[in-house]
Amino acid sequence: MSAVIPLDGASGEGGGQILRAALALSVASGQGFHVTGVRAGRTRPGLRPQHLAAVRAVAMASGATVTHAFEGSLQLRFEPGPATAGDYAFEIGTAGSVTLVLQALVPALSRATERSRVRVAGGTHVPSAPPWEYFFGPFAQTASLAGQRLDGRMVRPGLFPRGGGDVRVDVLPGVRPEEPLDLSRRGALVSIHGHAGSVRLPGTAERMRDAATQELWERQRLEASWHVDERWRSDSPGAWVLVEAVFERGRAAFGALFDRRSRPESVGARVARELLHFLEREEAVDPHLADQLVVPMALGRGGRALTSEVTLHLQTVVDVARAFGIEARVDGRVGGPGLVEVVVP
Ligand code: AMP
Repeated sequence: MSAVIPLDGASGEGGGQILRAALALSVASGQGFHVTGVRAGRTRPGLRPQHLAAVRAVAMASGATVTHAFEGSLQLRFEPGPATAGDYAFEIGTAGSVTLVLQALVPALSRATERSRVRVAGGTHVPSAPPWEYFFGPFAQTASLAGQRLDGRMVRPGLFPRGGGDVRVDVLPGVRPEEPLDLSRRGALVSIHGHAGSVRLPGTAERMRDAATQELWERQRLEASWHVDERWRSDSPGAWVLVEAVFERGRAAFGALFDRRSRPESVGARVARELLHFLEREEAVDPHLADQLVVPMALGRGGRALTSEVTLHLQTVVDVARAFGIEARVDGRVGGPGLVEVVVP
């Protein structure tokens, strides 16, 4: 077998992040990888169904040869072929996050020469993953500046724990931007947008919106435009909210899943306060966007982004990028603000 890049699955954040970044960069570069010690120290070690969903999706889109891809496996060997555009449908099965599968799949399909149509069924609003509005909003719009092009819509939400959501995404061939992505200064605040939705909890999204609106206005005299939809149909009842700030050259968004032990008002007010806290600072992107932009920057012309918090996730993606021979670094300690930089010659 040909030489593949060895990766230590227990390093850094030690979870799915290593795998997703490796899958995307592997297809983009044509280099295989062999990750060992996947989630070795966790209570349920090894690959979980949501990781395998990403492996299956990216393998299908690239005709990859894959070994050790089963639940609980502590290793995975992945050797890609070329990215192939097509019509793809993936069923995650559980409330596994659709956006995390897309995080690995979209950069891979961006390497194809034609448009792909992708359908992913699973969780659209689940803990510890980008909610659909974050993926399709702040992430996709910022990644488009790095040359990644996609269009999409949520057909049906799938909330934790039941899932059952359905999203459709068109991935267009990526373009090489003229300049590196520069998110090192955010510039002026342009606008604030909010999204809230609910399934079979009438009034919850509106109450979260009203509380967030009030918080933004009373504390800083800020106004937001909102998109609220309480008419969603799905087998997974629940509600969600996301508030996002658009700057001249930056972006930040904070969201929450409504949990029935809280009042909608306190959930809405909390996300608004998180956004206000970010606005008081100077950085250009929120911590999640920082880790999610490393792969698009590596596939484009590189770039830099100043974030309010360096996370282990960010450090991990940067380490994976370096293992693939990409010049990437983080200036700043985990937990504090920092600058991530990707240099593409
Ligand atoms: P992992 O924990 O390895 O499965 O990775 C989680 C991924 O989801 C990372 O890319 C995070 O940036 C992203 N993520 C987690 N929570 C959020 C959130 N609330 N908003 C946006 N992205 C998120």
